[in-house]
Amino acid sequence: MDALAVLKQKIARDGPMSIHNFMAFCLMDKDYGYYQKKPVFGTEGDFVTAPEISQMFGEMIAIWLVQCWDAAGRPDDFILLELGPGLGTLMSDILRATKSLKPFQAGARIILLERSDQLKEKQKSALNDADITWISKLSDLPKKPLFFVANEFFDALPIYQYQKIDTHWFERVIDLKDGALVFSTRYTPHIAIDQRLTFDKIDGDIVEVSPSALSIAQELSQHISQHSGAGVIIDYGNWGSLGDTLQAVQKHKVVDPLKEPGQADLTAHVDFHALSRNVSCDHSKMVPQGVFLEHLGITERAKHLAQNLEGAALATHIAAHKRLTHPEEMGRLFKALAFYSKDMTPPIGFSHDP
Ligand code: SAH
Repeated sequence: MDALAVLKQKIARDGPMSIHNFMAFCLMDKDYGYYQKKPVFGTEGDFVTAPEISQMFGEMIAIWLVQCWDAAGRPDDFILLELGPGLGTLMSDILRATKSLKPFQAGARIILLERSDQLKEKQKSALNDADITWISKLSDLPKKPLFFVANEFFDALPIYQYQKIDTHWFERVIDLKDGALVFSTRYTPHIAIDQRLTFDKIDGDIVEVSPSALSIAQELSQHISQHSGAGVIIDYGNWGSLGDTLQAVQKHKVVDPLKEPGQADLTAHVDFHALSRNVSCDHSKMVPQGVFLEHLGITERAKHLAQNLEGAALATHIAAHKRLTHPEEMGRLFKALAFYSKDMTPPIGFSHDP
């Protein structure tokens, strides 16, 4: 049986399925989940992420993490955590970029939060020399200062969708009609939906809520409040929930999420306002990725690297810089948000002043 047949069987047996459970199944089911099976990243796969576009992305994150570690008093035993590390490229670039900073490397306990066994293997080979611990839940973190990065992790966490119809809130679900999967709605009289999300909504509007994203943000911030540290979340998203943002991508194209479940990447835009509302440590403003990377010096770095390049390699390098920073490419769609301890100076990269 394929994932589609399994989903049809489940819905025929149990009734309509929440988008949350559909997303969790399609992405992370041990037998059918997208991240468990396919070579998902890169030109051969379905999508390309910032660390795969250029080493400069990881170098800028390394500068950011080191600056935070410095501002936190250079702890000599701390957690360097990445959530959802994919192929391990970002962490590998961070470790390479900080190689000569001995106190940072010596003090770092490298921890990766990952659920996909297939990707853990990839991460192991990308980070061959490093001493790494994998965890599947944040409560397994040691009680030490925490410095974290999460790139395109929160957008993979399952969401619920609710729609306002005739002044009532309905849950959007996936049902079976004439043997095919279809979107539908179900009335649930007591939906526990945050009023701050709904007060300005009119008939037909959809809001999205990701309980796992909220609880992960809360756990990260609680850890930072108790043990100090900082972290940055980078993802595509907005300040608030902008309606239906569930999206399936396959071979670099947007596809119908119900057509080949388990075979396409499924994401939803991250609601940065909801993430920041939840935190007990301090948080930055949300800034566009392009602004964040510019503040960290990506253009100077790009110029420096360009000196040793020519021809096609130079053209690829220039295109990569543009792709990461330009407002028409990833520069504006992607956003960054930082968490940091209350006793720390605010991290670099988040002021709107140049
Ligand atoms: N950060 C990487 C990969 C992004 S894809 C990059 O920028 O290239 C999303 C990653 O999050 C994958 O590694 C996926 O396996 C992981 N992931 C998704 N949901 C997860 C969950 N609930 N718990 C742990 N890891 C998860």
